[in-house]
Amino acid sequence: MKVVGIYGKHELISRIAEELALELDFKLKRYVSVSRINTFNEDVVPVIWVPLSKSNEHGVVNVLGERKLFAFNNSGCLNNPSVRKRLMNDIDKIMNLGYKELVLDAIRYPSPHDHITFLSCFCKYCISKEPQLLKVKDRIRNSISFNDVETFISSIEDLARIRIRFVSEVLSEIREHTKSHGVRISAAIFPPSLAKLVGQDYKSLANYLDEIQIMLYHKCSGAACLNHEIASLIKLLNDIFHDKSIVKRVIDALLDTVKVSLDISTLENEGIKHEVLIGELRRATEMGLNVPIIPILWYDHKLVKILHGIREEIPTVVKIMLFIP
Ligand SMILES: [Zn+2]
Repeated sequence: MKVVGIYGKHELISRIAEELALELDFKLKRYVSVSRINTFNEDVVPVIWVPLSKSNEHGVVNVLGERKLFAFNNSGCLNNPSVRKRLMNDIDKIMNLGYKELVLDAIRYPSPHDHITFLSCFCKYCISKEPQLLKVKDRIRNSISFNDVETFISSIEDLARIRIRFVSEVLSEIREHTKSHGVRISAAIFPPSLAKLVGQDYKSLANYLDEIQIMLYHKCSGAACLNHEIASLIKLLNDIFHDKSIVKRVIDALLDTVKVSLDISTLENEGIKHEVLIGELRRATEMGLNVPIIPILWYDHKLVKILHGIREEIPTVVKIMLFIP
């Protein structure tokens, strides 16, 4: 198994590779935020945070009508023209510096991490692109008022389909924008069971991307960490429905195949079991997509067990990336 890329503290990689008996690729890449890049470096791949914004004006509008930035309080709506303009400026910057490769991060809508703002976006730009969103919003609100679980589930699925279309539109625009430069485009994507909910459908993404990187983070506390996102979804559903059996019904319906502990403190303190993580990776690799699928694994003391599981159960996965916190 070979490490082909590093996110985070790259200076620790030699020690970690030795510790985990991992080979380092001779073209090992460092993934670095575009905000920290001012010159061309062949060992670096620029990472663009797609919905980046510091202005609440660019935020998403949730089901309660509140406008919020999401993720790390740093993200606005993909359909907001100011967000799109900044995105294209970042891409231009990278292309002008001579880079032929980039990674899109957070090409998505809010996740369970954002609590009630997960139920978004109903801003004027999204609604003008998809007027059906008004109905979706009313159905979500009513289903919450009347504890109508089935309507809640189907509305979330409708919202997910609309999000998937919006994300595809952004990707298609990025493709068009970079076409003449021949830029290789990858994206860091949520694990399959959660991906659709935030607007990331692997099959649609594969039409536009040259590589899919799956963020398989078993224990951490921010957006995209699988344990934290599932714990956050349970918290949100508890706060909405106040009924454990309803929460279980919704989790079973929305998370497809993932069978995880529904205990929030186990998820937050112990993380996701490695079997669940490996199951997510297997699911992605078995979709028959025509683009490479590379896991980004979170480095900590549990990683040994996860690597062992991948080697044993999915031997076709020979390239990995590490996130070194
Ligand atoms: Zn919006």
